[in-house]
Amino acid sequence: MADPRDTALATLVSPTLEPIVEVVLLARDGAYEAHAVDGSVRFRREPVDPGAPACEWRFTVEEVTGRNPLGDQAIDRFAGLDAEVSNRFPDRTANAYPYAYEQVAQLFDHPCAPDLCVVHTASHHWADQGGHIGEHGSLGAVQCRAPFIISGPGVRRDGMVEGVEAQLVDIAPTVLALLGHDPEVLDGRDGEPLHRLLDADAISAGDGPAHVVGLLLDGCNPNVLYDAVASGDAPNIASLMADGTTLRSGIVSSLPTVTLPNHTSIITGRHPGHHGILHNAWWDRGRGAQVITNSPETWATAMSSLLPGTDSVHLALQRCEPGAFTASVNEPADHGAGYSTFDLLRRGVRMEFPHTAEGLPHTTEMFVRPVKDYATFTQVDHHGTTQAVAILGGSYLGVDYPLPRFLWVNFALTDSAFHEGGPHSEIARASIRDTDGRIGEVLAALQRRGIRDRTAVFLCADHGMEESNPAVGGDWSPALAAAGLDVRDEAFGFLYLDP
Ligand SMILES: [Zn+2]
Repeated sequence: MADPRDTALATLVSPTLEPIVEVVLLARDGAYEAHAVDGSVRFRREPVDPGAPACEWRFTVEEVTGRNPLGDQAIDRFAGLDAEVSNRFPDRTANAYPYAYEQVAQLFDHPCAPDLCVVHTASHHWADQGGHIGEHGSLGAVQCRAPFIISGPGVRRDGMVEGVEAQLVDIAPTVLALLGHDPEVLDGRDGEPLHRLLDADAISAGDGPAHVVGLLLDGCNPNVLYDAVASGDAPNIASLMADGTTLRSGIVSSLPTVTLPNHTSIITGRHPGHHGILHNAWWDRGRGAQVITNSPETWATAMSSLLPGTDSVHLALQRCEPGAFTASVNEPADHGAGYSTFDLLRRGVRMEFPHTAEGLPHTTEMFVRPVKDYATFTQVDHHGTTQAVAILGGSYLGVDYPLPRFLWVNFALTDSAFHEGGPHSEIARASIRDTDGRIGEVLAALQRRGIRDRTAVFLCADHGMEESNPAVGGDWSPALAAAGLDVRDEAFGFLYLDP
């Protein structure tokens, strides 16, 4: 009997769907395949050193037919705002797919991996699915690239640097190395410490940071962020950049380049196929049930979908330093954190959530009134800032906290604004200005507590954001149905055949 995946491939990889389908991925017979309309590749993965604790992989291309759709893996494609803006809606021959072989392979390690993963094109606009001008989720250079800025004790002050390889899974090992620990303590990590950014001599001499603060600007495009800093729109982020090192080609998120899998990758140092939060939603074949992790109803319990034995930077720090306190603000991926907003929610603790966005500090009023999400996430981020400032002050909601060795603060406004108007819109700029003001509050709290110069601060995002083309809409589902396939499509692109 024919493999139904081949029937689906024949439909998906066709001139008709070429405007919206970049590449289709699958795993079979111990190898991985990527198929595009103009060619395909089959490759294999082997450990470089089968005995090593951290897996470093070697990829061998077995067969290329036509053009290798994953052949261009340049990490610096469209780095810099000019390069991005002058190449809007890049097609597959112009785009690049950083770490593509590693990204494809990790996905299919998950027990609930889809039969086929459809990667949409850079221009695809999900108009019929309530889509936005700004989009992400693909392997393409702009959608997978997040900003990365790091500064403070134990960190090199090299300014803007080019061509440094970095993935989000490298962050947790980097935090552990900054705090003087062997990153080997992080169990099952895919990432490596970003040694290029660290001052190893200072750390080994005991002059590393006493505290590390991580700031996540959800969905923030690095080209746009760095341009906003250069334009004077983000003075607090500018102060971090002036005092540290910034990756011009950013830090690369894991496939699928969407929110919750990548928040979890940052905290665990593992790719989604290895920590278990495979996507914002997926299908569990064993239970015959849909799993939704990234929604307001499920954020508080999302980490129950972690694969057994998954470690985190919080847990590793507590093992290395018994009694060490870590805090995680507004972050569903809170595995092992000493303080967590979502832990308070799980325990039914009443929190002081602002009733309205109007009148809150660092708020662009012209977007708060007409754009509901802008108002909602202004309230969310104000609430997060309040928590971070209070914890750094030593007490929140009547509970005393020690100074956190690691404090993580998740800001959400940027994602909603970048989706709403696209990365090159005024609302996106406004979200950077507002978030920069809130970051200023966190930095001021460090100053008041007298630990600013003993704290390393880094800033990242969970994925990139690219301007889609409203003229390129549509969906692959009708074509699959017309081919007689019973397909379950989870989170737009995870296809489960004959579920
Ligand atoms: Zn996100």
